[in-house]
Amino acid sequence: MSDSPALPANDWPELLPGWVWLCGAGPGDPGLLTLHALNALRQADVIVFDALVQSKILDWARPDAEKIYAGKRGGKASAKQRDISLRLIELAQAGKRVLRLKGGDPFVFGRGGEEAQTLVQHNVPIRIIPGISAGIGGLAYAGIPVTHRDVNQSVTFVTGHDQSGDTPSSLDWSAISRGSQVIVIYMGMKHIAQISAQLLLAGRSPQEPVAVVTDATLDSQRVLETTLGQIEQDIGTSGIEPPAIICVGRSVLMRQVLDWQALASGNQARDLDPLGRGRPAEIA
Ligand code: SAH
Repeated sequence: MSDSPALPANDWPELLPGWVWLCGAGPGDPGLLTLHALNALRQADVIVFDALVQSKILDWARPDAEKIYAGKRGGKASAKQRDISLRLIELAQAGKRVLRLKGGDPFVFGRGGEEAQTLVQHNVPIRIIPGISAGIGGLAYAGIPVTHRDVNQSVTFVTGHDQSGDTPSSLDWSAISRGSQVIVIYMGMKHIAQISAQLLLAGRSPQEPVAVVTDATLDSQRVLETTLGQIEQDIGTSGIEPPAIICVGRSVLMRQVLDWQALASGNQARDLDPLGRGRPAEIA
């Protein structure tokens, strides 16, 4: 800790014994951590972290901090969720300074709301530290703006799993389809066949652009550009694996001009005007 560079001057909060801070670690690239998260990592006695938290981020913890893996993948093991919450309570009640570190943002499809509620119900004091969610930051790393004036006035974030691990039966795909030009799907790989079929049934075009971003923001990031009609087949043949964020909508076309990682490695933009505005981007 002593040879770590100082945080910029601020009144950084102190993680006190007996407290739990629920903190987002962002989508992967350690640079996307917040300063509050870094401040937390430098103080915690115990860090309880999820599968999607990168080990490089844990390297910023105090060398003597205890690191507890609480990963569960694939939308199952909901029984384990209670164990995790109880473990956090136990640690806090033992007087530890506890950091609960989750991928992305803790309140976006991360069970952070339930964990926080359980802690409050057990009189454990908490602080919430938001993070950059994969559905926003992960798409940005692929050159896809989650909103764009020429594409959408709304965006819907949906999960491809419900608590039982099935496609969420409570989702009204037809309403989502009609109400939102851009749909961002978390945990959608397993059920992509049903999800794309539902969207097509609800009237979305088979030609509608779709991007599947795996390992977003990491060196291993891959982006599959496809269409709603082709997505199931293309995921199959590409061999890509979760975690993946799936974006359905015309904003995916913006990647042809905004794939900044390709631009940085010397490639030309594929199309300077992929939405076909025919006029400079900033002119109304
Ligand atoms: N709280 C997290 C989401 C947890 S749910 C957040 O705000 O980002 C886990 C799902 O998030 C994964 O199945 C995947 O859909 C998405 N995800 C998280 N990190 C990702 C990454 N680096 N690349 C692609 N998808 C990611």
